[in-house]
Amino acid sequence: MTVNILFAAASDMWPDYERPLIQALDRTGLDYRLSTDLSPAETDFIIYAPNSAVQDFTPYTRCKAVLNLWAGVENIVTNKTLTMPLARMVDPSLTQGMVEWVTGHVLRYHLDIDWFLARQNGKWERHVPPVAQERPVTVLGMGELGRACAETLAGLGFPVTGWSRSPKEVPGITTLHGDDGLTEALSTAEILVLLLPRTAETENILNADRLALMPRGARIVNPGRGPLIDDEALLAALDSGQIGHATLDVFRVEPLPADHPFWSHDKVTVTPHIASETRASTAAQVIAENVRRGAAGEPLLHMVDRTRGY
Ligand code: NAP
Repeated sequence: MTVNILFAAASDMWPDYERPLIQALDRTGLDYRLSTDLSPAETDFIIYAPNSAVQDFTPYTRCKAVLNLWAGVENIVTNKTLTMPLARMVDPSLTQGMVEWVTGHVLRYHLDIDWFLARQNGKWERHVPPVAQERPVTVLGMGELGRACAETLAGLGFPVTGWSRSPKEVPGITTLHGDDGLTEALSTAEILVLLLPRTAETENILNADRLALMPRGARIVNPGRGPLIDDEALLAALDSGQIGHATLDVFRVEPLPADHPFWSHDKVTVTPHIASETRASTAAQVIAENVRRGAAGEPLLHMVDRTRGY
């Protein structure tokens, strides 16, 4: 029987995804039809991005699963019409991109690269940075992305602490969980990386009280989600010197409004939600494997737990 697959995402994504998806789906050996235009009554799977016109899933009565192209699902888990299984994106290239972006910004802070860039002035001012072993780094969120970043940073020699909801054992990394674990994880964080999802529990997790727990002058790298940080508290902590600098890729409102104080703050680097992106060629293979599994009645990979919200 033909498996009907709807590609439901912003129209400019289709040219990137069409060929990789066809190649990956061909390799599954399935008899399938892939289209941007299928009626709800004939759709078996929806390859989905939240920028799609499809927002009401009620008519998709025979749909076996929605396969999200993005890692973050906060815009979808709250959609009450989406009652079928929901898988999120875990893409090796997206993970690789995040590891590179996080490592680059951590090294920039660790090596005080900005200090040298600001002193290209003919004066021979020596300032030798410590080695990685002397620079504790904490990663909040030890999922697909956080763990990969933590492992790479630990591999470079940084003493890395990772914090998550459930207890974990990761060789070479100090792992903590729960409220007490968060206090401990923040207390040593000379550089803090946020890779938590946005949920009701993680909103404003980095508030004034928790910023105060961090070593004075600590640096923050946030490629997770904007609402993880209380913006006003961060601005106050930057102004007081409690936080030395922040590199922010994600924001409560995106695009970040032109008059937002982050743009002009001399202790903030803004990047426009580019830390990492799903890459069509590798993501297509993940999608095709989930279609194959769904069609065969096997458990899907990377299922979202709606009660947890991620
Ligand atoms: P993931 O695999 O679901 O991992 C999430 C991690 O956060 C897990 O370790 C989880 O703990 C932990 N966590 C969740 N809620 C928690 C809580 N209340 N307290 C403590 N820990 C909690 O997600 P991922 O694939 O690593 O992605 C993480 C986030 O990165 C995404 O949700 C998205 O927001 C963001 N992202 C950003 C970009 C970008 O370009 N800026 C790109 C992709 C993704 P457990 O392990 O115990 O479940």
